[in-house]
Amino acid sequence: MSAVVLYGREVSKQIRAELKVEVDSIKKMGLHPGLAVVIVGNDPASRVYVNNKKKACEEVGIRSFEYALPEETSEHELIQLVETLNEDESVHGILVQLPLPKHINEERVLLKISPVKDVDAFHPFNIGKIMIGNYDFLPCTPAGIMELIHRAGICLEGKECVVIGRSNIVGKPMSMLLLHDNATVTICHSRTKNLKDVCKRADVLVVAIGKPEIIDADYVKPGAVVIDVGINRLPDGKLVGDVNFESVSEIASYITPVPGGVGPMTITMLMKNTIKAAQLSKE
Ligand code: NAD
Repeated sequence: MSAVVLYGREVSKQIRAELKVEVDSIKKMGLHPGLAVVIVGNDPASRVYVNNKKKACEEVGIRSFEYALPEETSEHELIQLVETLNEDESVHGILVQLPLPKHINEERVLLKISPVKDVDAFHPFNIGKIMIGNYDFLPCTPAGIMELIHRAGICLEGKECVVIGRSNIVGKPMSMLLLHDNATVTICHSRTKNLKDVCKRADVLVVAIGKPEIIDADYVKPGAVVIDVGINRLPDGKLVGDVNFESVSEIASYITPVPGGVGPMTITMLMKNTIKAAQLSKE
């Protein structure tokens, strides 16, 4: 293997230690950041994510408030809870764990979260602010990737960056952040023609598809930086990314592993956003 592995888990530990110092100092000024996490139903993957978010809160000294609602909760009841949390001064960030049960319209619920408490940065107001480059919160996964890239000392200016995936939570905001760093950005998706050829142009390849190990060394230019966002569970229970780590790590310059790469950074950025929301509440 020739690539340097970007261990998000390790970088996260370092950032969480920095955030803890920040929380300790704002607590001394009488401000205790609080995050409300709302989960509806019994999706096991969502349960794991919520538990990890609570653990991260403990680690950095953020108060966490969990609201675990039954599967049959109505959209109206969920919106009522969000509105109560919007008014609650001890809650600075509100996170509604997705996916929601099918009878609840996610978009309508997310729209009800006050933009100043929208620590996932999914509200159209915050998405708009990201587009114009004047934002308070960044969506956690793309923000975590940017931290990993910056802390590794990788310069993006003028680089060819290819993002595979155009979701609202990963692909689209990721492309915008790369653009803000003066990269030349191409977005690919399921209808892209000649995907391999486009990917082979990339100095930085960000993969957010959701298909196990679909990207192998044939898609990668030697020396490229490869960021694997995918989280896929194989039938035997093993977690893998969208990138075939074994073959790609032979030719890439940097690569993120799964697990232990982008995932921990995502949760760390949620902590960062919650602290920011608490600070903004005093401005
Ligand atoms: P999504 O399903 O909303 O989007 C997937 C994208 O991949 C779509 O835009 C689609 O056009 C594209 N795509 C699908 N098949 C393709 C193909 N064969 N070739 C090229 N493009 C193709 O998914 P998402 O929410 O963006 O998540 C993507 C992956 O990232 C999932 O595995 C998800 O679990 C993972 N994820 C990880 C984190 C993290 O913290 N590590 C956070 C969010 C999502």
